Amino acid sequence: MLSVLAVVAAVAIAGASLVGAVPGASVVGAGDTPTYGDLSGQDLAGDIVGMAPTPSGNGYWLVASDGGVFAFGDAGFHGSTGDITLNKPIVGMAATPTGNGYWLVASDGGVFTFGDARFHGSAAADRKDPVVGMAVDPETGGYWIITSEGQMIGQGPVSSDPEPSPACRIDPVIAGAFSPAGAWLLTRPLVVPQPPPSATTSGIDGNSIAEQIRYAQACQTLDPPAVGSLLRPLSNSRVTSVYGTRLHPVWGVVQLHAGTDFARTGGSAGAPVVAADSGTVLAVDTRVAYGNMVVIDHGDQVATVYAHLSETSVEPGQEIRRGDLVGLVGSSGFATGPHVHFEVRLDGEPVDPLPYVGSAHAVEAPRRPVPVG
Ligand SMILES: [Zn+2]
Repeated sequence: MLSVLAVVAAVAIAGASLVGAVPGASVVGAGDTPTYGDLSGQDLAGDIVGMAPTPSGNGYWLVASDGGVFAFGDAGFHGSTGDITLNKPIVGMAATPTGNGYWLVASDGGVFTFGDARFHGSAAADRKDPVVGMAVDPETGGYWIITSEGQMIGQGPVSSDPEPSPACRIDPVIAGAFSPAGAWLLTRPLVVPQPPPSATTSGIDGNSIAEQIRYAQACQTLDPPAVGSLLRPLSNSRVTSVYGTRLHPVWGVVQLHAGTDFARTGGSAGAPVVAADSGTVLAVDTRVAYGNMVVIDHGDQVATVYAHLSETSVEPGQEIRRGDLVGLVGSSGFATGPHVHFEVRLDGEPVDPLPYVGSAHAVEAPRRPVPVG
């Protein structure tokens, strides 16, 4: 029977400021597992984001997003990043096989070593898919860095190299663990942000759409469509706003207009919006700035987005062909009148759609108040 259950709360808090303190975490033992203490009732500078057990099972560490490490039971404190200014928050930790050290990993893939943990490498800091955690190989002492797309980047000696197993699904990976046969990946549904209406809302919507597309297309390889190969999503229409930075019609600030707006001269409300190419419907949802929208996955890391619809006529997962109806023109979200906002995205990032739908229709001078957004 372990006699010492005294909590050793070795606290290291970056910046030593508790302004905006967050509540500490509780540890709940499942089954017959005893607990050795936790941080309930304490105010911390960063959220608790990870946990690792000691090899004996008689203790554990908790780690906060600012790199503060808290040791309980027979876990020893070997240091923290509390005195380092982090570029990105800590997102996970793993203990060495001896239990005499641990690694911390940040969302940009930076790895920090403590005690007998050896440094085997970090993940590239310019990854689009953030790092969400790490897992240690108990046989070899190497580790894997796990990304939100489900890739496991082996560093140092590892007993298996799980095929970079991108999740290829809309749900991001939030954590993972070693299994003798490969790995377990923990996913949760992507949360569609609902920011209050402001000048930054379109950007927030756009970033979330990029994330959604990247997870779903993680197993594909980029092959952009040929120039002029896509169908214009609204027939008999003219371009009312082009892709690029512009003065936003609703907010009056200069920002990227991530797509091309199409409208009919005589009015577009209720006109059919069609798929620019064949593919699979990736998302049908309602966002603050984009309004009712449809995202179609065309494969080859190519996707198209149709926004401000008055109604949608497809379901996620549905296979559709080029020219099929996806919804009706409306002015939902931030729009000054009925039009379709059309985006082409390559690996999630918006590009100018016009070259892909052909340049036959140049931008016309507006003859009446132009619906844009
Ligand atoms: Zn637009």
